[in-house]
Amino acid sequence: MQMASTSSGHDEWYRDGLQFECTQCGNCCTGPPGAVWFTEEEAAEMASHLGLSVSEFNSKWARRLKDGWSLKEVQTVHGWDCVFLDRTSLPGKAICSLYNARPIQCRTWPFWPENLESQSAWEDAKKQTPCPGMGRGDLIPIEQIRISRDTENG
Ligand code: SF4
Repeated sequence: MQMASTSSGHDEWYRDGLQFECTQCGNCCTGPPGAVWFTEEEAAEMASHLGLSVSEFNSKWARRLKDGWSLKEVQTVHGWDCVFLDRTSLPGKAICSLYNARPIQCRTWPFWPENLESQSAWEDAKKQTPCPGMGRGDLIPIEQIRISRDTENG
């Protein structure tokens, strides 16, 4: 049977929706050293949220990498946490202290194009993160998945 596909060529094996409900474990915000990419517009939004200028924000909370700007990370017993991951305010939870101004990369997880490439890519992301929210909770409809997928895709 031919898989459903959009004009942009995605094979939408997930056309019946995917279950996702964040448990606030923080696993997607830690792990091996990596990058939490953000754009200039997102820098302005995060800076304004914190009452800082963009240059103050970048110098305090971000670092310039070869491919762009990333939020800083801090090494913890859990791994390299995003600098805005808050493990203390809510007992047993790890929450984003910049939630309302968080970058697109964070807003669209786990519906990233690479995780949606195939069912096995989805299962791999779920195991490797590991993200207990994938496969749990309400079914997220295809329309909403497409918005996250295509937003993350730029
Ligand atoms: S790994 Fe999944 S369940 Fe845990 S905080 Fe991230 S999105 Fe939520």
